[in-house]
Amino acid sequence: MDPRYAPLFQPLKIGPVTAPNRFVSMPHAIGFSHLMPNGAIGIRETRAEGGWGIVAMQLSEIDPTSDLSGLPYERLWDEEDVRAHARSVERIHAHGALASIELAHTGIRSRGISNGYPPMGPSVLPTLKPEMPLMSRAMTKDDIRTLRQSYRAATRRAKEAGYDIAYVYAAHDASVLWHFLHPDYNRRTDEYGGSFENRLRLFREVLEETKEEAGDDIAVAVRFAVHEASGPKRITHDGEGRAVIEALADLPDLWDVNISGWSRDSGTSRYDPEGFQEEFTRFVKQVTGKPVLGVGRFTSPDTMVSQLRRGVLDLIGGARPSIADPFLPAKLREGRVEDIRECIGCNICVAAESVGCELRCTQNPTISEEWRRGWHPERIPPAHRRENTLIVGSGPAGLEAALVLARAGHDVTVAEAREDLGGRVLREARISNLAAWGRVADYRLYQLRQMGNVTLYADSPLDAEAVAEFGADHVLLATGARWRRDGGGRTRLTGIDGFENAALTPDDLLDGATVDGPVVIYDDDHYYMANALAAQLARQGAEVQIVTPLPTLGSWMAQTLEQPRMIAEMHRLGVRMLPYTAATGWTGTGLAVRRADTGEPLPEIPARRLLSVTSRLPDISLSEALAALGIAHRLIGDAEAPGTIQSSVYSGHRHAREILGQVPEDGLFRRERAKVFL
Ligand code: ADP
Ligand code: SF4
Repeated sequence: MDPRYAPLFQPLKIGPVTAPNRFVSMPHAIGFSHLMPNGAIGIRETRAEGGWGIVAMQLSEIDPTSDLSGLPYERLWDEEDVRAHARSVERIHAHGALASIELAHTGIRSRGISNGYPPMGPSVLPTLKPEMPLMSRAMTKDDIRTLRQSYRAATRRAKEAGYDIAYVYAAHDASVLWHFLHPDYNRRTDEYGGSFENRLRLFREVLEETKEEAGDDIAVAVRFAVHEASGPKRITHDGEGRAVIEALADLPDLWDVNISGWSRDSGTSRYDPEGFQEEFTRFVKQVTGKPVLGVGRFTSPDTMVSQLRRGVLDLIGGARPSIADPFLPAKLREGRVEDIRECIGCNICVAAESVGCELRCTQNPTISEEWRRGWHPERIPPAHRRENTLIVGSGPAGLEAALVLARAGHDVTVAEAREDLGGRVLREARISNLAAWGRVADYRLYQLRQMGNVTLYADSPLDAEAVAEFGADHVLLATGARWRRDGGGRTRLTGIDGFENAALTPDDLLDGATVDGPVVIYDDDHYYMANALAAQLARQGAEVQIVTPLPTLGSWMAQTLEQPRMIAEMHRLGVRMLPYTAATGWTGTGLAVRRADTGEPLPEIPARRLLSVTSRLPDISLSEALAALGIAHRLIGDAEAPGTIQSSVYSGHRHAREILGQVPEDGLFRRERAKVFL
């Protein structure tokens, strides 16, 4: 190990338990609910194996009145739940890590639809999903007593399940304790409302009682957001956020501090650099003598160790870094820094959770597949025979497939038409603020260049004859996709008048085309490309307008938590936004448009240039030529179905595993089956 990183491997006493090192795999939604314990255990066990000293269970509701309906979270309601938790803890302990659990009541963040109890909080309030037509009820003294008992009971169950650390959760605008503390939410006139001490009362009581239940057996952590970076912004790191730490300073065994709401806590690389929470959390260690844990999308060991050395944090928390590379600590310990698969900060993982499905990750295609497909993030079983694979295209799909097959022992050749290897990620990483995208190629190319059984050719466009001549056992076409120029998109499938001969596409811009004069961008893609290019062009001084047929700009970015930041960015850069506006044609001097709902014509939007960002079509010309010659091959990544970078990486991985025969016999994957009672 590089001695510089030794502080990260010092054990740390946390109340009655001792963490083996300073790496904490944080509580975060993983998309496997209490109904899918096996997949969830697979994720956590892999992290413990990968060297994370503490591995956290995701948010676990303490009783049925906390009801995040429709989201795949955990429960610790009764003895039956304890069984699955105990199994999870056992698998974490087997690798020498500690297990923690974030015990939570989500208060007015609850939705109360699934379990049938109305959300409850300090006062009658709109639930914290404003678009849902629901209000919370104000908790009575009896409710408060019941809540305290529920916390006690959940702590007892956590102990029974074998956890080492139980959390009192008061962060993310998603905890009833936070709601009681918050001056905007707490309008009570009894001893639980009004003054700061009164608003803190419930939090303090729950913490004291959790400590009492925990006894000398397990540690008690508090997760608390010291600063509201979004929302009402009443709790701040130099105001009541600090006052809470001062008031409860040495009561918990561990402070786990962050910022609120979730969208700011999980900032993407486009908007927040590594370590972005430090300005808000650095005061905490000056106020308490207890260990302090924090996050900030830490992926660089130098940044991590600097947090310890400068006395900002005692423990380094990673949610996304532990998703992207469950073996990050082990690699550091073994002096293999270059092998770390750094999170790119894209929040595809968050998007998977937002839509209620199992965790997905751009950098780590094996996440969620540990149990159900038996995929390990680091180990690929050897191929039965040493075979020869040709991969055409060096984007994320081609490189990932190459890596899997090479690790299994195949001889792998990658041929890339362009001068540089890396495909779309290499080019998209040149867009301002998307530089981290390049890590997808960097990690894989570094690995491939270390291997004797891999040959990488740039500047090598292959045609069908060249592929045939190569005579590979397997041919994978990772030839990617091109943006449509004709305006055919996701809401309007056919081309738009005048686009084909006039529009620029993102491919043109990424290949170096420049735009002079006012530009109108037509966005029927709804993810980052249109607005990222809009921001880049605006920064270069162009007058930019962005038109989209959907009611909001960059709709998918609501799932990655970026939409509010992106819209603010557009405002800041003076980009004019025209949502709910559908293009009907390019006139040569402007974009003809109509209302997207009624079809009523709207005034033309004058512009010198048109940038069409609508949809992509796979590049299958080589595939067709190979088919004509009768040469078997697989299309992978965008060439199979254009999608996200994550879907390309995943596709490359899956196809490679299929070639290796590493799929269950029935071709499916293991499923978690519900029990039938009737
Ligand atoms: P994916 O996301 O599926 O990996 P990319 O678009 O990132 O797709 O990468 C596809 C790559 O394939 C591009 O860099 C492109 O230049 C390359 N490519 C396409 N056709 C050929 C070909 N006939 N020979 C070599 N490389 C090709
Ligand atoms: Fe990081 Fe993106 Fe993976 Fe999430 S999906 S862990 S943000 S690389």
